[in-house]
Amino acid sequence: MCGSDLWAYRDTFKRDPRSRLGHEFVGVVEEVGSEVSGSRVGDLVVAPFSYGCGTCWWCLQGLPTSCPDSGTWGARGDDGGQGEALRVPFADANLVVAPGGAAAYDDTGLLNLLALSDVMATGLHGAVMAGVTEGSTVVVVGDGAVGLCAVLGAVEVLGAERVILLSRNPARQAVGRLFGAAEVVAARGEDAKQAVLDLTDGHGAPAVVEAVGSPGAWQTAIDTVCDGGQIGAVGVPHTAPTIATMPLLARNLGVRVGIAPVRRYLPDLLDRVVAGTLAPAPVFDLTLSLEQTPEAYAAMDRREAIKVALAP
Ligand SMILES: [Zn+2]
Ligand SMILES: [Zn+2]
Repeated sequence: MCGSDLWAYRDTFKRDPRSRLGHEFVGVVEEVGSEVSGSRVGDLVVAPFSYGCGTCWWCLQGLPTSCPDSGTWGARGDDGGQGEALRVPFADANLVVAPGGAAAYDDTGLLNLLALSDVMATGLHGAVMAGVTEGSTVVVVGDGAVGLCAVLGAVEVLGAERVILLSRNPARQAVGRLFGAAEVVAARGEDAKQAVLDLTDGHGAPAVVEAVGSPGAWQTAIDTVCDGGQIGAVGVPHTAPTIATMPLLARNLGVRVGIAPVRRYLPDLLDRVVAGTLAPAPVFDLTLSLEQTPEAYAAMDRREAIKVALAP
C-alpha cells in the first residue's frame, strides 16, 4: 500500500467503483505471452510502479514515465497490484527478475524487494535530484516511507555523510536513524527551519529532499536549503502548491521535481538487496492478508502504520 492509495479512500480523488488499486508489487510469474523472453513461469519479479514500452525514445532515455504508452498499475484502465494476480504489458521492458526465485527470500527479503517497486527508488530519486553525492549534507523533509527511503538512498547508495531527518513521530524517527539519519529534527515550520540552520552553521543544507508534496513541506524545503543548493522533490502534490520564483533566483536554488523512473534504478537496487547492503524492509511495519485490505487502509489512514504490505 502506498500513501497515495489513501486519496481515493479519503475521497480526495474520485475513482470508478470496483476499479483496482495498488501500484507497488512483487509477484511470481504464472503465465507469459508469446513474445516474452525475459521472465519465465515461476520467476519472482519486481515491478516498477509505472511501466513503459521499452523501445520509444523516452524509454531509451531511461524515462519510461514519459513514454506515450506508459501506465501506472491501479490507474484508470490498468490492473492493480492489490489482488491475487494481474496482467503486465511490455513485461520484458519492465519486470526485473529476482535471482533464486521466491524460495530464496524470507518474508523480510520479500519486503526488501517490494520496497524497490516504488518507495526505495522514489526516495533515491529525490536524493539524486537534490544532487546528493559522496560526503553531502542532506535534509529530508517528510518521514513517510519515501522520506525514510530518501535517507537510506542518500546514505547507502549515494554516500551522503550527514542526513538530517525532519520527523516528529518516534517510530518513524527510529527507522530514519536505522537508515542512517545522523540527526532528527522533531519540529515543523519555523521551528524546523531554525533547528536546521542551527545544525548547519546558519547556512542550511546544500541538498534537500522534499518527500511530502504539501505547501508546508515545500516551504520547509526552501527554508532549509542553503543558497546555491538544490531541492529534489518527489512528494506528490494533491493540492496545488505555488512557488515564488524570485527567492529561488535570488538565492541561486536548484529545484528538480520528478516522478521516479523506477525501472532505471531497479537493477542496481536489486543487486544491493541481494548482496545484503540495502535493506529498506523496515518501512513496512505491518503485514496483512489481502482479505484484511480494508484494515490496511484504515491503519494507514489513522497513521498507525508507516506502510502496510498485503500478502496473498
Ligand atoms: Zn507508491
Ligand atoms: Zn516507451
